[in-house]
Amino acid sequence: MRRILLIAGAALVVAVVGVFIAIQFPSVDVWMFRRAVHAGVSGPDAVVAKDGELSVLMVGTGTPLPDVNRAGPSTLVAAGSHLYLVDAGIDAARNLQLWKVPLNKIDAVLITHLHSDHIGGLAEIRLQSWVAGRKTPLKVYGPPGIERVVAGFNEAYAIDDGYRVKHHGAAMLPPDAVKLVAVPVAFDGKTAPVFDALGLKVTAIRVKHEPANPAYGYRFDYQGRAVTISGDTIYDEDLARAAKGTDVLVHEGLAPELVGIMHDELLAAGRTRPAKIMHDIPGYHTAPVDAAKIANMAGAKLLVFTHLLPILPNDIAVRAFLKGVSDVRPDGVKVAHDGMVVRLPGHSADIDVGDIQ
Ligand SMILES: [Zn+2]
Ligand SMILES: [Zn+2]
Repeated sequence: MRRILLIAGAALVVAVVGVFIAIQFPSVDVWMFRRAVHAGVSGPDAVVAKDGELSVLMVGTGTPLPDVNRAGPSTLVAAGSHLYLVDAGIDAARNLQLWKVPLNKIDAVLITHLHSDHIGGLAEIRLQSWVAGRKTPLKVYGPPGIERVVAGFNEAYAIDDGYRVKHHGAAMLPPDAVKLVAVPVAFDGKTAPVFDALGLKVTAIRVKHEPANPAYGYRFDYQGRAVTISGDTIYDEDLARAAKGTDVLVHEGLAPELVGIMHDELLAAGRTRPAKIMHDIPGYHTAPVDAAKIANMAGAKLLVFTHLLPILPNDIAVRAFLKGVSDVRPDGVKVAHDGMVVRLPGHSADIDVGDIQ
């Protein structure tokens, strides 16, 4: 006991002396700041996928509802060193920068549909990928209408572009490179090829998210592995068919019972406008149990829930969200969080789930 008291006393003295030195000698603050900066900036960029690997990084797993723990909808698919961003929700760029993912390596953006939560972070992706060293315009694939969205962002940020070129110089920030270039993807039927290059095949899948029409999911096939992203959709067996044999199905999820509770409580509190929204949204999303059925139908090895409704602040809420899912699908289910990575080594059956940091 005496020994513990002695150690505690010594630690206290050291702490008091340390604080005294820090207060008396501002250079110690600066030295500590330098140490913190050094730790923050040193080290390599994040590797989302190794050579020959297909990976999915959950960049933003939230929705339009404000959530300090989840950015807006955004998922990064990496085929080796080539990066493809599916949707650009609010704070997608911020998360990628915090994780040291090299934004200049994003080859293209693919937008599932034109709801604001899926495009709200596009301006920052445009700007930060340019600042990070992107030397050519950035292609943005998406449903018809993507031309207007892209033209709008280009126009809205044109003045800022000019300031930055003047300030840092055209050698660092080539003026022509900053632009987004729209690539509308229009098709009849259920699926259509988007592109097939560098061993990666990307397929658009028409999903049902009325009145946001057309709305797409995307399937990525690379090195014998496949990832399918649902986008926002109701229960859709055609999606299961298009995702057949996928290793990972990243599917949106809305728990009707929990959203119903939110509706009731908002209404009881006299908050009629958000209550109306809670009333309206289940009609164009998928219940977790139904998404599990789609994953089973597709033969997906892993189902990853994203675009989580309502806000799930803790593990208890996550358990409530998943109520009934294990009856349909006992294994192979994850609820995503921002920073989760699923790695699929090429020509293998392995699925490694981890975190980017
Ligand atoms: Zn939507
Ligand atoms: Zn959405």
